[in-house]
Parts: sequence; C-alpha cells; structure tokens
Amino acid sequence: MNKLPPLIFEKSRDGKIGHGLGASQVPAEPALDADLRRTEIADFPQVSEVEIVRHYMALARLNYSLDAGIYPLGSCTMKYNPKINEKLAAAEEFQAHPYAPHDLVQGNLELMARLEQWLVALTGLAGFTLAPAAGAHGEFTGMLIIRKFLQEQGDARRVVLIPDSAHGTNPSSAHFAGYEIREVPSNADGIIDVNVLQSFLDGQVAALMMTNPNTLGIFEKNITAIASALHANGSLLYMDGANLNALLGIVRPGDLGVDVMHINLHKTFSTPHGGGGPGSGPVGVASHLLPFLPVPRVVKSGDKYRVIYDNPQSIGRIKNFYGQFLVLIRALAYLSSLGRENIRRVAEDAVLNANYLRKRLQPLLDLPYAADTLHEVVFSDKNLPVKTLDIAKRLLDYGVHPFTIYFPLIVHGAMMIEPTETESKETLDEFIAIMEKILQEAREHPEQLLQAPQQTPVRRLDETLAARKPVLRWRKGENL
Ligand SMILES: *Cc1c(COP(=O)(O)O)cnc(C)c1O
Repeated sequence: MNKLPPLIFEKSRDGKIGHGLGASQVPAEPALDADLRRTEIADFPQVSEVEIVRHYMALARLNYSLDAGIYPLGSCTMKYNPKINEKLAAAEEFQAHPYAPHDLVQGNLELMARLEQWLVALTGLAGFTLAPAAGAHGEFTGMLIIRKFLQEQGDARRVVLIPDSAHGTNPSSAHFAGYEIREVPSNADGIIDVNVLQSFLDGQVAALMMTNPNTLGIFEKNITAIASALHANGSLLYMDGANLNALLGIVRPGDLGVDVMHINLHKTFSTPHGGGGPGSGPVGVASHLLPFLPVPRVVKSGDKYRVIYDNPQSIGRIKNFYGQFLVLIRALAYLSSLGRENIRRVAEDAVLNANYLRKRLQPLLDLPYAADTLHEVVFSDKNLPVKTLDIAKRLLDYGVHPFTIYFPLIVHGAMMIEPTETESKETLDEFIAIMEKILQEAREHPEQLLQAPQQTPVRRLDETLAARKPVLRWRKGENL
C-alpha cells in the first residue's frame, strides 16, 4: 500500500512556479477594495509542473477501486463495471436538455422503454418506474405505492413487517412512508417461517418487506407460501431486490407472488457505486398496482414514444425529470452486451464464486447458518482470538478491500462476503490465501492484528468522528 505523499506545501519553494500566465491584459488596478480581497491564498504552494503531476498521481494511487482489485463487500454487488458502459454514458448522442421536446429525444425515451422491458422480462412484474435515485429511494417509492393502493381501497393499514435480517434502509423507508415497523424473527435456518409470519398478521399489516435471497445469502424458500398468507390477509409483499444478482434469468420474483420490488441498477447492472452514488433504484409492480406508479411514464404509441404526466391514480413525482439517466444508459448497455442468452450466467457464476469461497473458508471460520447460500456467505467471529474488525483492518495491510462487517445484525461479528461473478478463480485463491495467512496470524500473534492496519496512510481512525467531522482539506498551520 502506498504511503501518504509529502504535502505539496512542503515541496514549495519561492519562485519555483509551474505556470506562466503571460502579461496581464487588464489594468493592474485591483477591481476590489483591499478589505474585500482574500489574503490567505498568498500561501499557495509554488511547485513545478512535474511535481504537481506526481503529487496528484500519488494521491490517486491511494484510492482503492474495483479496477485495482477484488471488492468483496457483501450486499453491495461490487462487480467489475465494463468500460463500454462509461463510453456510452458519455456519448454525445445521449446528451439532451431535460426540457427538450419529446420529438427531439425519441432515442432517449426509447432507451428508457427498452430498459423497462428488460426489467419486466427479468422480474415477471407488469411495469417499472425508472425514477428512484437509489435502492432506498425505491423502497420509499414502493411503500408510497402500497399505501396509496390500500388507501384507495378504503383501508388505512399502519404496520409494515420486516425480518430481523433486513438492511437498515427497509425500516427507515417504511417509517418515512408513514408506517410503524414490526420486526419478524428469522428461524434457525436464517429464513422466515410461515407460521411465525402468520402470528404477526392482522388487519393492520399493510405489507412485508423481504429481501430474497436475504442478507445471509439464503433463498427465502417459503416465499410463495408467505405471499399467499399475506394476500389472504389483504397485505402486500414487497421484495428488496438488492440481491437480484443471485436470481438473474433463473427466477422471476413476479412468479413468486411479489407485488412490488426495487432493483439497484448500480449493483446488479454495473455502475460504479459507493461513496454516495449516483445510483438508480427502479421500482416494479404487479399489474394491480400499475396505475399507482410515479410519473412521468414513457409509453409507446404507434411508432413514437410519449411521456405521460397525468395518471390520476399515480403517487406523483418522486424525482426531478427522468431519474438518473446516465445510470439507465449503463444498465441497458450492460444488459444488451450480455444478451438474453447469457444473463443467466451472471447469477450462476456469482453463486459458484460465493460457494467456492464458502467451501474454502468454512474450515477456518464459524458459519452460523448451515443452509445453502447463493451469491454471498456470512461468517461469524465466534471462536476467534480476535474480532471481525481486526481481520478487516488486517486485510487493508494486504492491499485488499475488506468484506462487509457487522451486518446482518443477527450474526455475531458478521463477515459478509460477496465475490460477484466477475472475479476469476485465481483472484479468489489469492483472497483465500490472504485470509488463511491472517487467520494464522490471529492464532499465533493476535497482537499484530490488534495493531492493524500498519501499512496504510492512516491507521485506525475514530470512524464515527471521521464520518461526522471529516477533515477534507489541509490548511497551513492546521494539524492533520
Ligand atoms: C444496498 C442495499 C439497499 C439500499 O440500496 P441503496 O441503493 O444503497 O440505497 C437496500 N437493501 C439491501 C439488501 C442492500 O444491499
């Protein structure tokens, strides 16, 4: 791992200036009064061109990215993002003003319609909105759709059920949509039991929000019975589709009784993500909920694409204009380059890779749920002389991005590993070898792990403080 480069200010020498602006063509008289002018930039570093280039290159090398190595962050589906996606997202042909007349942007509207068709084909649902800006925004949108649907039936139910393995955004989205949350415990196999669910069902339950496969990587095999129980109770089934990578081309959630689901385009359909976006969280619905989808909706009439803004039952707008259009381009590029025949291999290889890691790491780590897993596997730090955090920090010393830690909450010291389909067996073997080395260190020199990371520019940070009060710039005289 590269060390933090010396501060550019330390290389500064008077007169060692790397640029020349030539003679000024405006009068030398300052336009502003002295008391309005800033003086602190007098300390601007003076360095040569080569030094400034090396400074920024050194900073850039500190970044870890998918283009640098494996990124096994569970639940995040950090697959390789093909460069063709970026090329197309930057293509001039797609650049348009959001107020451009629809006649002039027929290609962009067709792109949205085609992506929607893909999502309909992959999920078995009736229609999608592409507007939500992220998975969490999709969850919120889906909850608003459910609420409006139930209200129109004269039924103001107040409760949303959420399994204890759920991602934190689920209860948050349901709460913001006006619902009260009740937590449903998973059973010993890590899934929802129909009888347990049944005991939660009453006239107040609007919906169950369920992730499938769930955050343990386990397929909720009771899903059709769960859907039937919910529907018999007048409740709806919301599926968090963040883990769709495990099902692509194999199972269509719509066939399992799902009423509403979101898809994280940035995860499953390859847009660089993390660090806050941009993302896209399209929401799909079964046919009875189609009228409630947000506007605008792109529809084809004759051989033209139109945009509808006035669906009377729609929940309305949830995002300005058409959503994160550049992510939609990337998703369609990804789907089109794979094609219908190959899409299934994404899921097959993702599951194969995760199970290879599971088999190889199982002798070394505690596996709290023995059930078969799909695209990711969750170990615990039970019986280890160190904690999950120590292992994650030590991975940094070996130049590898750690897996997701301490989630899902139902696993003690969870290590949630999702390799995705784009890693080769050789890369997985390297990752396994590093894990073996770290676990050997944990047994023989646990203190070494408690000191990790040692090779990184910064050591163990106060992560709460770093997140709440990030120091994002250096100023002369201030300590780092
Ligand atoms: C990532 C994720 C979300 C939230 O999606 P964002 O796009 O980050 O808002 C929700 N649920 C699960 C299971 C996830 O992995």
